[in-house]
Formats: sequence, C-alpha cells, structure tokens
Amino acid sequence: MKQHKWPNVKGTYKFDFNLRDISFFKVGGKCDVYFQPTDALDLQNFLTQIPNDIDITVLGNVSNVLILDNGIRGCVINLANFNKIMFEKDFVVVDAGVQLSSFIKHCIDHNLSCCEKLFCIPGTIGGAISMNAGIPSFEIGDALISVDCIKFNGERITFKRKDLNMTYRDGNIGKDLIVVSATFNVSTKEKIKLQQEVNDIIKKRRASQPIGAYTCGSTFKNPPGEKAWELIQLAECKNLNVGDAFVSDIHSNFLINKGNATSSDFLKLINIIKQKVLQHTGILLEEEIKTIGEP
Ligand SMILES: Cc1cc2nc3c(=O)[nH]c(=O)nc-3n(C[C@H](O)[C@H](O)[C@H](O)COP(=O)(O)OP(=O)(O)OC[C@H]3O[C@@H](n4cnc5c(N)ncnc54)[C@H](O)[C@@H]3O)c2cc1C
Repeated sequence: MKQHKWPNVKGTYKFDFNLRDISFFKVGGKCDVYFQPTDALDLQNFLTQIPNDIDITVLGNVSNVLILDNGIRGCVINLANFNKIMFEKDFVVVDAGVQLSSFIKHCIDHNLSCCEKLFCIPGTIGGAISMNAGIPSFEIGDALISVDCIKFNGERITFKRKDLNMTYRDGNIGKDLIVVSATFNVSTKEKIKLQQEVNDIIKKRRASQPIGAYTCGSTFKNPPGEKAWELIQLAECKNLNVGDAFVSDIHSNFLINKGNATSSDFLKLINIIKQKVLQHTGILLEEEIKTIGEP
C-alpha cells in the first residue's frame, strides 16, 4: 500500500511490518501498515480519515493470536502509547495499552486489590478485556465497571460491564470496536498479602507451564466440566508435532514453536489434535486462540 494514502496524524506508521517479530508464537507474515496512534483523539482522527474499504485489525501483545503466514492486509492498530493509569478513591481508569502485569504491580504499590489473580498473563488491558482473560476462579470482567471504546468510524462509546454479556474467554466486544481504556473496581488490601499472592502465582506457573517457550498459552477452551489438557493427553497427543510446531510436554494445551514452525504447521497440528480428541472422547475442542490473516 502506498504511503501517501494514509492520514497525516501524530502517531507512527510502519509499512510492510513483520508481525512475526512481535508475535508470541514467532510466526506470521507482514501487515501492510502498522499504526500506533499517540492517544484517543489521534486514533479518532485517523479512523475518520481512512477510506471505508481499508481492513482494520487491532492487536495488543499478540499473546493469543496465530498470525497466518501471508500476514494481514490493511491496517493493524496497536495501542502501545495508551499507557496511563489513573487511581481514584475506589476505582481506577487504565489505558488499553497498559500491560496487565504492570497494572497489577501499580495496584499492589497502592495497597489495592483488583486483578492480581491474573498476574503472569502476558497481555495488554485491551487484549485481556477482548478475551475476558482469566483463570478458573476469576476473569477480568469480574473487576470491570465500564469499558471505553472507539468504533471503526471514529465514534466514541462507553459500555457498562452489565451491558457487555462477557462470557468464558469472550469479552463480547463488537468486531468494529477498539477498547481504549477501562474502569475497574479496587479495594484496599495490604501490599504484603498481595505480593505473597503474586509470588504464589509465579511459583505455580513456573511449575506447570513451558516458561520461555514461543507459545500463546492455552490453545483450546476447556469444554464445560472438562479440562482441554486432560482430553489432549487422553487422545495421546502429548509431544505430537508438525514440523517445529509441538504439543508441549509440560502442558498439553500449550503449543510451542521450537524454532522454525510456520502458522500452517500450527494449523495442521491444531486440526490433528481436534480430530484425535474427537475420536477418543467424542468432544470437539474449540480454539481459544484467534487465527488472523491470510494463509
Ligand atoms: C504463557 C502464556 C500464558 C497465558 N495464560 C493465560 C491465562 O491464564 N488466562 C488467559 O485468559 N489467557 C492466557 N494467555 C493468553 C493471552 O495472554 C491473553 O488472552 C491476553 O489477554 C491477550 O492479550 P494481548 O494483548 O496479547 O491480545 P492479542 O493477543 O494481541 O489479541 C487478542 C484478541 O484481542 C483483540 N484485541 C487486542 N487489543 C484490543 C483492543 N484494544 N480493542 C479491541 N480488541 C483488542 C485482538 O484483535 C484479538 O482478537 C496466556 C498466554 C501465554 C503466552
């Protein structure tokens, strides 16, 4: 895509930007344009000026997305510059580009309990809300008061938590909406207790997950009453591979790139696992990770 097509705004453009470099799986092709607006007004200016036929994709840390090998056409928007946290008396307003773990650390520094159970989830606030990221006992939606969004047409819109219909790993944010900030409930809790909780989480994750591997975490959602990793083990998929795309031997619901995997290797592996689990258990697994782009 030609550079002159793009609006004159304050944020930065990168053309033919290699998404593989920023993806947790370390796979995927290039996007035509990678745009990082400076703030919400800049994003609105951009959206109101671009032609309607430009495809828009929003990406956070790419820790839950399999980007396909031929990349993403149109424009990828990333909100890394949206990084403010504003503490009020009993709530906090957080920009969508803030790292979840950094937000939790700031809350702990202020003796505030909010999303500490989600420490170690490597997403942004925007990505975590879009995915309703969580663990079995807590989802980000549990602490939410409201979400501030900008529509692809530039219109600003705020949703109360109760109007969002968030479900397991689905924030139910409309496909034409960009989360720009969120307001969370907080409550007072001693820093030392919060820090202990976080330390316990780190210890558990180190023992149960392939630390340092190129992975997007859980590949499949847990079917009701079941655990995806158990079903995958039952179906004898542990250590299965297609090229350098492997089922982790530490956590069977984690797929890992051992070096040179492509997104098509991952897609093949995902399909093999689904077939084997279906044959062995009669259950059809549903992906938690999002697949985006052109094969
Ligand atoms: C080691 C590891 C452990 C993990 N553990 C967990 C876990 O315990 N629980 C869990 O739920 N997840 C877990 N994940 C998955 C992942 O980290 C979460 O889903 C995270 O919230 C994704 O955030 P992100 O910023 O990386 O979003 P991305 O992966 O970039 O995007 C995810 C989705 O959100 C959309 N999106 C991103 N930003 C916005 C925005 N501002 N507005 C609108 N839509 C947006 C994208 O379009 C995409 O559909 C883990 C991942 C890894 C690698």
